[in-house]
Formats: sequence, structure tokens, C-alpha cells
Amino acid sequence: MVVLMRPGSRKSSVAKVLSVLSARGLQGRILAVDPRVSVGVTEQLDSTVSAEVANEIRALGGVEEVESFDSSYKLSDRGFHPDRTAVKVGKVRVGDGSPTIIAGPCAVENRDTLMRTAEAVKTAGADMLRGGAFKPRTSPYSFRGLGEKGLKLLRETSEAFDIPVVTEVLGTGDIRLVADYADVLQIGARNMQNFSLLEGVGEQDRPVLLKRGMSATVRELLLAAEYVLEGGNTQVMLCERGIRTFEQSTRYTLDINSVPLLRRLTHLPVFVDPSHSTGDRELVAPVALAGIAAGADGLIVEVHCEPDKALVDGNQSLRPGCFADLMKKVHKVSSAVGEGGDLTSRSTAVQSAGR
Ligand code: PEP
Ligand code: MN
Repeated sequence: MVVLMRPGSRKSSVAKVLSVLSARGLQGRILAVDPRVSVGVTEQLDSTVSAEVANEIRALGGVEEVESFDSSYKLSDRGFHPDRTAVKVGKVRVGDGSPTIIAGPCAVENRDTLMRTAEAVKTAGADMLRGGAFKPRTSPYSFRGLGEKGLKLLRETSEAFDIPVVTEVLGTGDIRLVADYADVLQIGARNMQNFSLLEGVGEQDRPVLLKRGMSATVRELLLAAEYVLEGGNTQVMLCERGIRTFEQSTRYTLDINSVPLLRRLTHLPVFVDPSHSTGDRELVAPVALAGIAAGADGLIVEVHCEPDKALVDGNQSLRPGCFADLMKKVHKVSSAVGEGGDLTSRSTAVQSAGR
């Protein structure tokens, strides 16, 4: 159930709604304050109770409408929160209509490579720097990242180039440590349904980039996001990074359908990862542009100053020159399609401030 207050309604009217809900044993959550307050109730109510509560609340001052809807994900549902969420990361505002580009190496390898790549992506116009310090690898014998040393290098590079950093948190034991250094906590595809990890990042005041599991449905992705939102962290961004299909000639298959679908189903920003979905540098730019044309709020792209020497994912990492070229095209495609990717175009509400 969602209670939409009239624009400019008083705090006391909102408090009254919350107290009526509480008297019924229900917890009202403030979903948005701007441009108007909305209050959500996540508990599943039977239809008679729901109608009774709705009538009682409709009669209160300052209430414009009470909507009930049946959806298993709630806090991420567009019906629960009609205004699109913009996630704030430092000076960057994700989901404000212009694409947000996250770029950098797959893994933090050493200071020199990270600094050179960061300088290149920043100069080309990237908004955030990516780089894994804790890498999920299929084989335990592969390079698994520099751990805390990598996080320190990310922070140093972030400050040197004035660019926020996104990095993966692999296990529950590392959440605090990663949150101390990172601006955005990435949950990788392999951990999309690690519910303890989702709950853990839900308690942090860092935005979360949640990647779709390679075998997860769109609904499962939204339910995973629900765990983070439920914990009180409203700054969640979703990422389509390719799913497993019978096709073997690319690394995964980018589910382009999921981009406009997610924009319809949820108010959360949606990213596309053309690097892991294709696994092939030559396919990255066209697939990235397809993501933007489909309405993605941003891209996360692997870029390496010397991809042939990369310790991880060199084949899919763009050289700086190709990335700079892609950046120009991203802006052209974005302005060509405008807000066309948003099938249910509505205004944007800033949820809360990040670091
Ligand atoms: C990554 O972005 O570094 C990564 C490992 O991606 P994914 O979790 O999508 O495989
Ligand atoms: Mn990678």
C-alpha cells in the first residue's frame, strides 16, 4: 500500500498517517519527500483489511490518494515509488537523465596502471572509476586482487583525480573495510543472492551497485535489491551484465530487454555492463551504445591502459583511445533518444545524499 500526501502537506499530517498505521500494527516508511511525501507499507494485507485501512487513511487531512497493489518486490517497485530515484555519489547524480559512466580496470593491479588508467578515463569524461580489490575468480589459483592494498590504491587514485570509486565487496567480513575506502559498493553477479551480504550492505550509508546474477531473472534481481532497500539503504543501482544462454560465441548474452523492462518496473537506476556481457573488446562499444539507446542510466566499462598486460579480463578491456571515442558516441546516442528509454516518464526524486 502507498499513501500519497498532497504537495506541501504538513509534517503533522504525515505523522497522523504513521500513527494510524502503527495503531494497526503496520510500519509506514517514508518513501519519498520530494516533490511530495509518500508513505509505503510493505506488509502483505488481506484485501478486507487493506480496504479498511485505506478508507481510514483516505479520511485523514493532507492525504491525496491511497493505492494498494500486489507485488512481491515493494520498495523497488515503481508503483510504490512513482518518481525515479537519483543516486548521489559525491558530485555525481546517477539517474538524472544524462548517462553516468563508470570505467576502469577489471582489477587493481598496481599504482602505475591504476593511475594511468584513471587519468585516461577521467580525461575522457568518465564519472566514476572502477577496479576490483577483491576479485571473484572461477579458479582459486587466478589473481584474486590486492585486498586492502588495492582499496588504499583506489582511495589514493580517487583523491588524485577527484573521481569517486566503485569496487566489489565479496564477503560479509569485508563490508566495513570496503565501505571505509569505496564510494560505491559493488555486489557482483555471483553474489546477487548472497542474502547476508545484501543485508550487510543494506546497513551501510554507501550506494550499492547490484549486478544481475548470470542465471537470475529480472524478478529475482528486484527481490535481491529489496534486501538492500529493506535494510534502510535507498541508494541502489541495478546492473544488467549478461546472462547465460545456449550461445557460446560471446561470454554471456546481454538481456537488452531487461533495460526498458526494469525502467518500467522500478524507480532504481539501471546500468549496462557491455564488458562482461560480451567478453570481447570489439563488441563493447556497439553493445554499450545499444544499452544507452534502450534507456540505461549508465554504463560500467572495463578500460585498461595496456590491456595486453592486464592480469584479468584484458580481452574485453578497451584501450583509452577507444574509450574516449565511445564517450563521444554515448552522448550523441543519449541525446538522440532523450528520455525515450523511459516508457513511463516521470520526474526524478533524489533519495538521499551519498558521500
Ligand atoms: C566485475 O565487474 O568486476 C565483475 C566481476 O563482474 P560480474 O560480477 O558481473 O561478473
Ligand atoms: Mn572483469
